[in-house]
Amino acid sequence: MADISTDVLIIGTGPAGGVTAALLASYGIKNMVINRHSWLASTPRAHITNQRTMEVLRDLGEDVEDEAYMHATEQDLMGENVFCKSLAGEELGRMKSWGTHPLSAAEHELSSPCLMNDLPQTFMEPLLFKTACSRGADARMSTEYLSHEQDSDGVTTTCLDKLTGKEFTIRSKYLVGADGSNSLVAKQLGLPFVGEMGVGGSMSIHFKADLSQYVAHRPSVLYWVMQPGADIGGIGMGLVRMVRPWNEWLIVWGYDVNEPAPNVDEEMTTQVARQLVGDPELEIELISASTWTVNNMYASHMQAKRVFIMGDAAHRHPPSNGLGSNTSIQDGFNLAWKLAMVLNGQAGAGLLETYSEERVPVAKQIVTRANQSIGETGKIFDALGLLGESDPVKMQANMDARVEKNRAAEKQRNALREAIAFKKYEFDAHGVEMNQRYSSAAVQTDGQQQPLFKLDKEMHYQPTTWPGARLPHVWLFDGAGQKRSTLDLCGRGKFTGFTGIGGEDWVLAAKQLADQLNIDLTIQLIGPQQPYSDYTGDWARAKEIGDSGLILVRPDHHIAWRKDQIVDNPLEELTRVFTKILDR
Ligand SMILES: Cc1cc2nc3c(=O)[nH]c(=O)nc-3n(C[C@H](O)[C@H](O)[C@H](O)COP(=O)(O)OP(=O)(O)OC[C@H]3O[C@@H](n4cnc5c(N)ncnc54)[C@H](O)[C@@H]3O)c2cc1C
Repeated sequence: MADISTDVLIIGTGPAGGVTAALLASYGIKNMVINRHSWLASTPRAHITNQRTMEVLRDLGEDVEDEAYMHATEQDLMGENVFCKSLAGEELGRMKSWGTHPLSAAEHELSSPCLMNDLPQTFMEPLLFKTACSRGADARMSTEYLSHEQDSDGVTTTCLDKLTGKEFTIRSKYLVGADGSNSLVAKQLGLPFVGEMGVGGSMSIHFKADLSQYVAHRPSVLYWVMQPGADIGGIGMGLVRMVRPWNEWLIVWGYDVNEPAPNVDEEMTTQVARQLVGDPELEIELISASTWTVNNMYASHMQAKRVFIMGDAAHRHPPSNGLGSNTSIQDGFNLAWKLAMVLNGQAGAGLLETYSEERVPVAKQIVTRANQSIGETGKIFDALGLLGESDPVKMQANMDARVEKNRAAEKQRNALREAIAFKKYEFDAHGVEMNQRYSSAAVQTDGQQQPLFKLDKEMHYQPTTWPGARLPHVWLFDGAGQKRSTLDLCGRGKFTGFTGIGGEDWVLAAKQLADQLNIDLTIQLIGPQQPYSDYTGDWARAKEIGDSGLILVRPDHHIAWRKDQIVDNPLEELTRVFTKILDR
């Protein structure tokens, strides 16, 4: 007999574990989340928070979304992505990033009711944790996961209470390993992984210093400093990242992973900061310093019977593109409703298998993208004449050659401009963030072909109601004339159908089906004199089906199924579809 029992045990209170606990608690599912440390994130690692993640927070409630914005640095201050010789030194170029270029800003605004922002992990984790605990999740800090055993009814997990030094067991129906990139859960499961760990070395230096004079006129999250042959250890390119404008910072400085990790003491970190800022007298208030490795690895399967992995446990990659925490949170949004429906007896266990089917392609995509982005920075080094050269004096001369009055220098200036502009694939890849389309039994296409991407799918989000895609956001108007996003009319742990005039029969059928299957299914009617109006015609342009058809949306905003027109027997049709989706 185990010491404690719960329905879902989650290992880790990072973005993945925290959001899963918060979502499960919001859905009324008993869960427990544990962390081996006594508190949450101690360093502000993740920060770029994309629109899709904000949609998950919005789904958790207006209070959660509002609190995130309250703590975040707003998008307007994120975008002057600078490349320079030092903060005080010459600027080499910059690119408008994170949806702040007017063209990109328009695409962002059209895509979502939510705004991209910069929310350090030290604020995100407490928000998710508080939401989870206040809605009923049980939490145990200073509790270390040691091992688990599963059988056909559940999982027995052995933990160490670090306060008493005693081991104890927790019995749960499901176990979620959200235990980060060194995941013990994944290791013990022996899940298959593709790629390798430790492909590069990095150190993080978190400090306070007022740098307003160098940055306030070109507000950005990221300042990239090129210092070939810098007289401190490292690979010659550093990142000065804003944590709080403009007095709290995190420097990321690479080291040769084939050498032992450097000793990041106060003297060394002060030297790195002075060098990158370009102020030999700079005084910093060091908060913390640590080393970490760049990884290039993802799990090609994320489930073993009753145990799942998510977040960095499943996808391990560098911070480029700011995808780690975002993807971790979106993993949780995919799994939580499925666990809830299976635990509530509303779906068969087969539904849980769709988690890995749907999220592994995303893991692969983001690990590949993040590592590719690092490689693409090489174009800038190349344009500056730094590749294949090791003499710092020659490197400096090569960089400066671009100011000369000759054809070669003009060519070099063009190459640098293009190389910097090409970094849009790292700093403004809206499609990577928003184009996730799922394929699994929890999506029924009825043979409809996926629409081709008309533009570069990494750069541009392309809305569609093709089953598997996320429901397009458009603004509708309720009876009081208030603006409501389509995403506000679905989600929150429930299935939702969208139809229009002529589709009224879906409503009765949905009610009968919901009673039969004991599920929540709401139908939203859109059109003139309907509960929601489409005054702008944006919904008519987005829906890709006839007015009387139906778009069926899952609790995670992804489309499960669509039908062009009303059918003779809507109940029979809905029963057919739900039987497959829910593995009934
Ligand atoms: C410098 C830097 C910048 C980054 N910037 C961004 C960004 O801008 N945007 C973005 O989206 N991502 C970014 N990331 C990535 C992001 O930090 C990670 O992807 C994210 O933290 C992963 O969340 P997670 O919940 O999966 O794992 P983690 O945050 O690693 O959390 C793991 C949790 O498991 C707990 N744990 C581990 N083992 C055990 C055990 N045995 N027993 C009990 N508890 C355990 C840990 O204590 C922790 O609570 C950045 C990372 C770095 C290093």
